[in-house]
Amino acid sequence: IGSRARPAIMGIEPYVPGKPIEEVQREFGLKDVVKLASNENPLGPSPKVQEVLVQAAANLHRYPDGGAVMLRRALAEFYGVPEAGVLMGNGSDELIKLIAESFVEPGDEVIVPSPSFSEYWFATQVMAGRTVAVPLDERFQYNPERILEAVTARTKLMYLCTPNNPTGTYIPEKTLTDLVRRVPDHVLVVLDEAYHEYVEAEDYGHGLPLLREGAPVVVLRTFSKLYALAALRVGYALADPEIIQVINRVREPFNVNAVAQAAAVAALGDEEHRRKSFEVNRAGKRQLYEGLEALGCRCVPTEANFILVEVPHSSTAVFESLLRRGVIVRDGAAFGLPRYLRISIGTEADNARLLEEMAEVFR
Ligand code: PMP
Repeated sequence: IGSRARPAIMGIEPYVPGKPIEEVQREFGLKDVVKLASNENPLGPSPKVQEVLVQAAANLHRYPDGGAVMLRRALAEFYGVPEAGVLMGNGSDELIKLIAESFVEPGDEVIVPSPSFSEYWFATQVMAGRTVAVPLDERFQYNPERILEAVTARTKLMYLCTPNNPTGTYIPEKTLTDLVRRVPDHVLVVLDEAYHEYVEAEDYGHGLPLLREGAPVVVLRTFSKLYALAALRVGYALADPEIIQVINRVREPFNVNAVAQAAAVAALGDEEHRRKSFEVNRAGKRQLYEGLEALGCRCVPTEANFILVEVPHSSTAVFESLLRRGVIVRDGAAFGLPRYLRISIGTEADNARLLEEMAEVFR
């Protein structure tokens, strides 16, 4: 029966996430393991989230609000957009899949940057669409001309990830505006801004102003990164209500659970924790830039909560040595960059431990 499955999905390998801390502890007999592999907020969520969890847990026998009204209202207010222009997903991962289900027919083309987040390829493949990868330049910057040249009559979607995972590079405001304005009418631009809240660069541009001027864009953001709710799976799309209505057709009725909805409202309301998370990341970034450069590793300047780091040896060898020493990072070989590691920015202590173990590995 398995051989009768749709051919499009047979080329897909199941996603292999980074090793969890417990597994590395067991495998190498280690006590103190540091994970800097999944771009999580090392501070954990806002204390305001802890407060609402008990209350939310008291109603576990009830179905959640399928329309996520309170949360969508909170986001609409936060951004000054209409409630009908907000759609919640079980992580932005789910939204990427829903967008593909809504727009991609077999043979349709989806433009994606390369290297970038693998979910764009995955969602396209599931729908038997064709991913057209446009490489970033040698400094991992977007090249708008190359992206526009990739558009054909069959292009349905164009993914732009800024700041981009795994490079940490971003699209400057002017470049983004010019690019989006030049995209032909039949293409929907999806701006994945999962790391938006970490950006420091003054010339960075995001999708909301474009949305307000009526450009055909969908902006994806998430509570998994700066808001530190990765385990609860809450992401959202901001777009014109007409586009939201389309994507909403393929959404499962109760896709975001009640605990997650309550936690996200609480997290959104805690500006202090947001500021603190941003500051810890900013300080950690400086600490890692300095420490890694001192070890002879070149850092790609980042606007996110991770750094792409060029190492002087094979990335897999360095990755494995670090793992044996209790530090989990991402091996760039997994996304076609065999001389790079992607290292999430942790607490000061996590970062110090990474630098210490790296120094030992390079000795
Ligand atoms: N987009 C990008 C660029 C990401 O890096 C991630 C998380 N790795 C996601 C989307 C998915 O985030 P989530 O599903 O947790 O909202």
